[in-house]
Amino acid sequence: MKTIALKFGGTSMADANQIRKVTAIIKQSQHRRYIVVSAPGKRSSDDIKVTDLLYQCYNAAVKGEDFEPSLLQIRERFEEIIRDLELEFDIDSEIETIRKHLQGDPEKDYMASRGEYLSAKVFACHLGYKFIDAADYIHFNENGSLNFQKTKEDLKKVLTVTFRAVLPGFYGSLPGGKIHTFSRGGSDVTGSIVARAVHADIYENWTDVSGMLAADPRIVENPRQIRIITYRELRELSYMGATVLHEDAVFPVQQANISINIRNTNDPEDPGTLIIPHLPENADPGSVTGIAGHKGFSSILIEKDLMNSEVGFTAKVLNIIASHGLSFEHLPSGIDTMSLILRTEDLAPERDQVLAEIQEAVQPDTLYVEDGIALIAVVGQGMAYYKGIAAKIFQAITDANVNIRMIDQGSSELNIIIGVAEEDYEAAIRSIYAEVIEKK
Ligand code: ADP
Ligand code: ASP
Ligand code: MG
Repeated sequence: MKTIALKFGGTSMADANQIRKVTAIIKQSQHRRYIVVSAPGKRSSDDIKVTDLLYQCYNAAVKGEDFEPSLLQIRERFEEIIRDLELEFDIDSEIETIRKHLQGDPEKDYMASRGEYLSAKVFACHLGYKFIDAADYIHFNENGSLNFQKTKEDLKKVLTVTFRAVLPGFYGSLPGGKIHTFSRGGSDVTGSIVARAVHADIYENWTDVSGMLAADPRIVENPRQIRIITYRELRELSYMGATVLHEDAVFPVQQANISINIRNTNDPEDPGTLIIPHLPENADPGSVTGIAGHKGFSSILIEKDLMNSEVGFTAKVLNIIASHGLSFEHLPSGIDTMSLILRTEDLAPERDQVLAEIQEAVQPDTLYVEDGIALIAVVGQGMAYYKGIAAKIFQAITDANVNIRMIDQGSSELNIIIGVAEEDYEAAIRSIYAEVIEKK
């Protein structure tokens, strides 16, 4: 028998109406057996996610403020679902447990995890499936990284003897038993881990769009759907801001060559996007798969005559960056210049100290920081080997009357990264999209 692991995101779990759609999808195939769910998300664009309400409770509690209004909203969200689905579920005692926790010494990750915990428990009750608490099977190391080996083994043990189950996404536990969460959107990662543990034939990730689009729909009108994409391309795009799937959701399934299928709960007939290990033989060489990007970067510019002949120059600068726990995104360099691109918010607290140390260590002729940079990634397997794509991209940017601040062609022949001023970000994306995707 085939095994399908599924993950349903916040909008799919947002209310009883959505949950009925989810149930119909699950019941459509007997192979759909292991289900990971998010906390109830937004029911409309101005709604608040249950996870955000839980963070509100936590923030109020630690400041000694009243958390009851937010807790009440959480309770109402679940009460409504339970009532509409006509379930027998004791939400009062669950809310009481959370209240007790808030009155003591509240923990942020524990609080954040309660949305997924309750969502999975309620949904398991609705389906009549077993609820399996991620806290008992998803293990983190002391430093917060995933203990993949132990997690895989433990999950495998329990899931081989459980034919169908619902699991909460987003969290697990630390060695001492404390709850720990992935970063936001992390239920995608849980889904991927579960798919790996049960050797699923496919990991279906159900959300509110029919798969990955070739550009952010908030910037480009009606962007083309990506039918097939490789793990690596997807990772590049999601890392750069195409947030459909958490960038870390790729690793667990990649090792076992399990494909991911992004599907739309509101349009279940659409085949969505298939994420596969390698491009098929007949793939179009040099085509652009997608465009993504992010604002909020800064560039540290360093100039010094004869920099290239000064042994260890780059290493000294990079050591300073590393000693402040910073990671940089790009390092475009010339003969006598180098620049380091970092996230502005990461650099901010260390900024003065980092600049002082660079000044002292390498005595540059010029040293300054430029803020307000947006990075755009144009991604496509094999693209960068294909002559002409880069020229088209630059032509498109020039046509949009935008200045290029930085260019970095990834050594992976997978992407071209362009830095522009933040105010030019949307125009540049639209223009690149029109030139290299729409015209194709
Ligand atoms: P879920 O709650 O199901 O995990 P998310 O909100 O995390 O859903 O991800 C889906 C959203 O990602 C879409 O509604 C869309 O607004 C946004 N998005 C951003 N970039 C893209 C893209 N390139 N393709 C598709 N959706 C995108
Ligand atoms: N509920 C969590 C969040 O809002 C995790 C998830 O939805 O994947 O980030
Ligand atoms: Mg998500």
